[in-house]
Amino acid sequence: MPVNVLFSARPALWPVYEPLLTNGLSEAGLDFRLGTEFEPDEVDYVVYAPNGGLLDFTPYSRLKAVLSLWAGVESIAGNETLTVPLARMVDHGLTRGMIEWVVGHTLRYHLGMDKHITVQDGVWTPDAPPLAQERQVCVLGLGSLGQAVAQALAALNFHVTGWSRTPKEIDGVTCLHGADGLREALSRAEIVILLLPDTPATENTMNAETLALLPKGARIINPGRGPLIDDDALLEALGSGQVGHATLDVFRTEPLPPEDPYWAHPNVTVTPHIASETRPITAAQVICENIRRGEAGEPFLHLVDRQLGY
Ligand code: NDP
Repeated sequence: MPVNVLFSARPALWPVYEPLLTNGLSEAGLDFRLGTEFEPDEVDYVVYAPNGGLLDFTPYSRLKAVLSLWAGVESIAGNETLTVPLARMVDHGLTRGMIEWVVGHTLRYHLGMDKHITVQDGVWTPDAPPLAQERQVCVLGLGSLGQAVAQALAALNFHVTGWSRTPKEIDGVTCLHGADGLREALSRAEIVILLLPDTPATENTMNAETLALLPKGARIINPGRGPLIDDDALLEALGSGQVGHATLDVFRTEPLPPEDPYWAHPNVTVTPHIASETRPITAAQVICENIRRGEAGEPFLHLVDRQLGY
C-alpha cells in the first residue's frame, strides 16, 4: 500500500515543494502518493504549515506523524486533536538565513550605522565604534538557531552570553540558565537577541522587570516571536531611554496593524517576519528523511516535546 503524504500549507508553496518532495521520496525508495487532497482516513503523513488551515486532526485515523515546515510550532503544539508525533523544521538554509539577519542587525547596532546613514548633517563627529571584543551581546535561547547565531557572533569576537532552559556548553559562549542566569545575562547585555520559542513559560520574558536589568540604552533584536516581549513595557523602556532601540521582526498580531505604535516609533525598526524562512530545497530533504525514518521504524528527527511546547 502506498504511503499517502498530504501537503497542507500555503497553496502557493505546492508547486515549489511538489517536485522536491517527489524527488526526495523517490530517492528514499518509497511507494507514495503526494497531494493536497486526500480523504482524512487515507493520510499517513501531513506536511504542515499553519496557513494550510488544518485544525482538526480527529478524522486522520491512520496518521503517523505531522511534519512542520515551520521552526516555531506554537500554533499546533497545544492542539489536543493531534495525538501522533509532531516534528518541527530544523533546516540548514533557515539557520544560515537567521545567522545572516541577526549578524547584520547586530553589526548595524555595534557600528552605529543608523546614525551615519540617517543623519547626513554636515557635522564631522569622529566617534569610532569599539571592537566587537569590547561589546557584550546576549542570545536568549540556545536551540538550533540561537546556538548557531551565538557561535557566529563569537567568531566575530563579540563577548557572547547565551541563556537557555537547561545547561549548555558552547565554545566561545558563556552559557547561563535559570532565573539567576537570566538576570546575570541581561545585566551586562548591550545587545539582546531573542531566539526563544513562544510557549507559556517564555511569554513576556522581556517585561518591565527584566528590561530594567539591562544597561541603559541597550538594544533589542527580536526574530523569535512577538509574545516574548511585553509590548507596553518595551514602549515604556524605549520612552525612558532604558532601551535605546529595538529591531522587531515578529509581533503578537501579524501583519502588524498600521496603527501600531511600533511603526512610527523613532527608535524601533519593524521588519515583516522576514528574519529567515524555511528554504524549500533543504527543508524538503528534512521532510523526506523523516518520512523515510517513519517507514523504516526509526526515530523521527526534531520531535517537539508537546508538554514544553517546543
Ligand atoms: P529550538 O527549539 O531549537 O530552541 C529553543 C531554545 O529556547 C532552546 O535553547 C531552549 O532551551 C530555549 N528555551 C525554551 N524555553 C525556555 C525557557 N522557558 N527558559 C529558557 N530557555 C528556554 O528553537 P530554534 O532555535 O529552532 O528556534 C527558535 C525560535 O525562532 C522558534 O521557536 C521560532 O519562534 C523563531 N523563528 C523565527 C523565524 C523568523 O523568521 N522570525 C524563523 C524561524 C524560527 P533548552 O535548549 O535548554 O531546551
